[in-house]
Amino acid sequence: MDAILVVNAGSSSLKFQIFTVSQGKLTRQIRGQLDGIGQRPRLRAFDAKGTSLFDLTFQREEVPDLPAAIDRTRTWLRSLEGFNLLAIGHRVVHGGPDYAAPTIIDHALLDKLATYAELAPLHQPNNLLPIRLAMEINPDVPQVACFDTAFHRDHPDLADFYALPLAFHREGIRRYGFHGLSYEYVAGRLRQIAPQHAAGRVIIAHLGSGASMCALLDGHSVESTMGFTALDGLPMGTRPGQLDPGVVLHLIMQKGMPAEAVSKLLYHEAGLKGLSGISNDMRDLLASKDPRAAFAIDHFVYRCALNIGSLTAALGGLDAFVFTAGIGENAPELRERIVHRMEWLGAALDPEANRAGSSLISTPTSRVALYVVPTDEELMIAGHTLRLITATH
Ligand code: ADP
Repeated sequence: MDAILVVNAGSSSLKFQIFTVSQGKLTRQIRGQLDGIGQRPRLRAFDAKGTSLFDLTFQREEVPDLPAAIDRTRTWLRSLEGFNLLAIGHRVVHGGPDYAAPTIIDHALLDKLATYAELAPLHQPNNLLPIRLAMEINPDVPQVACFDTAFHRDHPDLADFYALPLAFHREGIRRYGFHGLSYEYVAGRLRQIAPQHAAGRVIIAHLGSGASMCALLDGHSVESTMGFTALDGLPMGTRPGQLDPGVVLHLIMQKGMPAEAVSKLLYHEAGLKGLSGISNDMRDLLASKDPRAAFAIDHFVYRCALNIGSLTAALGGLDAFVFTAGIGENAPELRERIVHRMEWLGAALDPEANRAGSSLISTPTSRVALYVVPTDEELMIAGHTLRLITATH
């Protein structure tokens, strides 16, 4: 059957999904990942119902890095029968200032995207590696890059400039925003579920291990809590969110921390993990009786509330608020606490609908409609990929 492979390559994991295509309709068949690269590598795959298809653990030196992970995964994918690979869709974190939409990849585009590695050094090179390898091995299979920044490219300049001398903006030091594939998917679902609200002033809260919020007017992103990098905005699993840049200067200049150590602190040791000293996983914190866990959760909720206030100001009011991603979809207690801090906006939660995980979780009289909409970035990528290859053939 005709199929599209979706790839999301990071430094420690390679995630993949296979969708079959029939009469223009996509159906997810397989999802899998090789995680623990260079640590405890494990390749797992599941069918659409979640039944395990494959589960193999490797020695650390058997899969020391991403190229080895790609090789192992490719070998397994090639052993599958019955799929005719039409195209590969990739999640690429950075489309820089130029790419506002998914794009078919050629060598020129790949070279251009490689120049954005400076803007996202931890992600972009990993995202591009499987593209380069697939181009060499399967040059006839079209590949599509779907950017996490693209959905935010409609922002007014007012939102995307930093108050720095203009030359910095010209060299790319500006706000970009991320999680765009998730926002695009959720905004599309909201249009189906509640068109009247989707056309209004909406905040989508993508609360996962990475967390951000996006303000939308009539389905278009006008503001986001993430900026030049995915460090800004809300506190996350291991990232601090908004931080006075003076702290970074202090760490480097007064404490003498090497830049690499500061980077490690900000990407891997801060956020819920750093604050609680217990875990980066919200489930662990909710289950813990340790007061530091409670404080980390309080802090997360408080910062969410502050950012809702600022995005509401960007929108000039708020008609609907949507929870999505790991925490947003699965933690009713967190939703309740965040909505409690939105009561000044006229938001009123229906506690039963919230506990039941309904799509609409506000009361009929709430001035802000509250929704839970599960995200699906991979389906978004598969959809873009199919649309682009269909348009060009
Ligand atoms: P990513 O940002 O890596 O794509 P997800 O959106 O899958 O991650 O979110 C993962 C996070 O969601 C976990 O680290 C955990 O903190 C949180 N999470 C998942 N399920 C629950 C739950 N039932 N209760 C609270 N938090 C949850």
